[in-house]
Amino acid sequence: MLSIENLRATVAGKDILNGLSLQVKAGEVHAIMGPNGSGKSTLGHVLAGRPGYEVTAGSVAFNGVDLLAMETEERAREGLFLAFQYPVEIPGVSNMEFLKAAVDAVRAQRGEPPVDSVAFLKQARAVCEQVSLDQSFLRRGVNEGFSGGEKKRNELMQMLLLEPRLAILDETDSGLDIDALQVVADGVNHLRDPERAIVLVTHYQRLLNHIEPDFVHVLAGGRIVKSGDKSLALELEAKGYGWLEEEVA
Ligand code: ADP
Ligand code: MG
Ligand code: MG
Repeated sequence: MLSIENLRATVAGKDILNGLSLQVKAGEVHAIMGPNGSGKSTLGHVLAGRPGYEVTAGSVAFNGVDLLAMETEERAREGLFLAFQYPVEIPGVSNMEFLKAAVDAVRAQRGEPPVDSVAFLKQARAVCEQVSLDQSFLRRGVNEGFSGGEKKRNELMQMLLLEPRLAILDETDSGLDIDALQVVADGVNHLRDPERAIVLVTHYQRLLNHIEPDFVHVLAGGRIVKSGDKSLALELEAKGYGWLEEEVA
């Protein structure tokens, strides 16, 4: 589903991704861990097509299509979803309007008509309940004045309604209390599907107690330096990242 080959990218003239390769198949859950500043969020921004992130080498195929040649909106319409470490606020646009516009754009891509407003409201209310957000959040501006935990739940709500083919979650666990962590984990587990792939960027092993990954990768210095199964996350928790840097050197 996602095939990243030897990806190199610069931000503000600085090399951040240095030959990153990663293969993700439908049905798989991958966790990406790594020290601060290793390029994890940059990878997400590059995949999303955020301006200012320049790809200098390598390729990214999404379902066999060149992802890097697509506009950001096109990537989303093709079923790529990124939950960012710092979700943006969009004052003046209600969450409900935003969600419906996003869902309708994906449906239009598939040649389907816009979703019925009444049916969608019902569905959105149910998902609100699922992520433990009060229904009033549907009327509020997107992320406007939301707490850190509410923003993460809101990202999860977007994801549950959009049903993406590939979901990338950048540190969706950071800043969450234990109950919110469980809500996020339940939501992600709910999305697990043979037709869908999930990539979780996380600093801590604790999220992986709730969401069992098929693969764990370590990103350091802008590339994947080690891959393994969930036992690698436990090893990192016990030993930190220093030993890997030595091993790679
Ligand atoms: P991680 O998510 O792994 O902690 P990031 O991808 O956020 O790391 O950052 C990797 C490196 O790229 C850091 O040194 C960071 O300062 C730098 N970087 C990221 N975005 C920018 C930017 N917009 N301008 C300058 N440097 C940036
Ligand atoms: Mg970080
Ligand atoms: Mg980051």
